[in-house]
Amino acid sequence: MRVRFWGVRGSIATSGPEFARFGGNTTCFEIEAGDQRLIIDAGTGIRGLGDKLSAQARLLGRDVQATMLFTHLHWDHIQGFPFFGPAYLPGTQLDLYGPLEEDGVTTLEDVLAAQMTPPTFPVGLEAMPSTKRFHVIGDGDVLALGDLVVRAQSLSHPQGSLGYRVDYQGRSLCFATDTEHPGKDEVDEALADLARGVDLFICDAQYTEAEYEGRVAGPSRKGWGHSPYVAAARTAKAAGARRLMLTHHDPNHDDGVVAAIEREARVLFPACRAAAETRPLTV
Ligand SMILES: [Zn+2]
Ligand SMILES: [Zn+2]
Repeated sequence: MRVRFWGVRGSIATSGPEFARFGGNTTCFEIEAGDQRLIIDAGTGIRGLGDKLSAQARLLGRDVQATMLFTHLHWDHIQGFPFFGPAYLPGTQLDLYGPLEEDGVTTLEDVLAAQMTPPTFPVGLEAMPSTKRFHVIGDGDVLALGDLVVRAQSLSHPQGSLGYRVDYQGRSLCFATDTEHPGKDEVDEALADLARGVDLFICDAQYTEAEYEGRVAGPSRKGWGHSPYVAAARTAKAAGARRLMLTHHDPNHDDGVVAAIEREARVLFPACRAAAETRPLTV
């Protein structure tokens, strides 16, 4: 599998030279496996991905086809969708999977449509001429796309969130952003099971432990639905993951802070990197 981070920032996008090394776009992750293309989340990073896919489609004379998986419908995971260029091309085919909201009724399509409504946005979802097939996905669901298998599992987050495990021809990854681990020194066993033995475990690591506990820089972040990096490292170890990448970097953390978190996390789990908007990686 070839994978690429197009957005690694949590909560809200950041910009400026102090964020240039890791990147300031909110969550978007691309997976290419054979003829399948998966996109996890449509944070602001999806704009750059869309530009790449539109350019490829023009050069190759082939329409864009992709499966989009949404972890949840918080703003930082959907706000790039109105700027996803291929959605405005009539030949584009998109299958979009997202969880139902807490009311059990509101769908991904409802939320994307509501986002693209005046006065907050001038162009409606129906003005995108691409073909969009919406599907509901939830805890325990398994999705088979050719040789690629996706498993969804609930994570601990306000309004809920889904973690995804992707297996393809003996390689595997687990994408678990926007999740809060149980108490200090405990492992989220269900998440460790989802990530069991994966080649790449991508995990929320928004805070330092001191921030999470409220010892520095404001109140305790307990209950906010995100994790200190020590919890990500602990879960990677419990899962037997080969590599760990930390994501959902806090918007208050400039490159120096993210690099320090990466250094400290590597003491706990040596095969660890902080996710960055860079070139594709092979899994
Ligand atoms: Zn988020
Ligand atoms: Zn969230």
